[in-house]
Amino acid sequence: MDQNIDEMIDHLKSYLEYLKGMGIVSLPASEMISNKMFREEKLTLKELRKELGDCKRCKLHRTRRTIVFGEGNEKATLMFIGEGPGYDEDVQGKPFVGRAGQLLTKIIESVNLSREEVYITNIIKCRPPQNRNPESDEIQSCHPFLMKQISVIQPKIICALGTFSAQTLLKTDTKITALRGKVYDLEGIKVIPTYHPAFLLRNPEKKREVWEDMKKIVELLSNNDKTKEME
Ligand code: SF4
Repeated sequence: MDQNIDEMIDHLKSYLEYLKGMGIVSLPASEMISNKMFREEKLTLKELRKELGDCKRCKLHRTRRTIVFGEGNEKATLMFIGEGPGYDEDVQGKPFVGRAGQLLTKIIESVNLSREEVYITNIIKCRPPQNRNPESDEIQSCHPFLMKQISVIQPKIICALGTFSAQTLLKTDTKITALRGKVYDLEGIKVIPTYHPAFLLRNPEKKREVWEDMKKIVELLSNNDKTKEME
């Protein structure tokens, strides 16, 4: 998909303004490399996990038990990206395995998909103490690895779960309530923001809206399959 230079400049400007708004005043070389590598990643997920190693790139390494890298199909067309590991995930080393995770599994299965078919990860790979919100320096440190995961998997659709995921991927500070219900573009990948399953546990009346988002995802996946058949 071609993008004209003016659009690219606008996109880059809004990204840099977003980072500045989050208190980030300089970018590590890896951040620049990750954006450049978005379509060029030749690693496998296993190699990428090895590259992450016993990561100490941000302060979360001091309190985490396990790095929760991600789980699922390396060739998934649909990727779910949440916020960060919680207690159960930190103990088990797998994403979305607590109560919110069980709800995510039900959401995935409600549209006749399985966890094995999709790929599930988070914006940050280590649990913040007491499940507090991730901080901007932590998101920034982990971001290159998330971008590389996306580059390896090359999904057609990313479902961004919750505020931090949607805001990080879309480089905006707009609230999830305003972001959801629309389809966005991330370098040719469709991004659909929806509510985080943990939020749904507290606000079950919002499940209907997530159901609408899931129906949209299935529709887009099926359109993608049809386009492939015609090629
Ligand atoms: S959150 Fe990411 S950057 Fe921070 S220590 Fe864990 S893996 Fe490394």
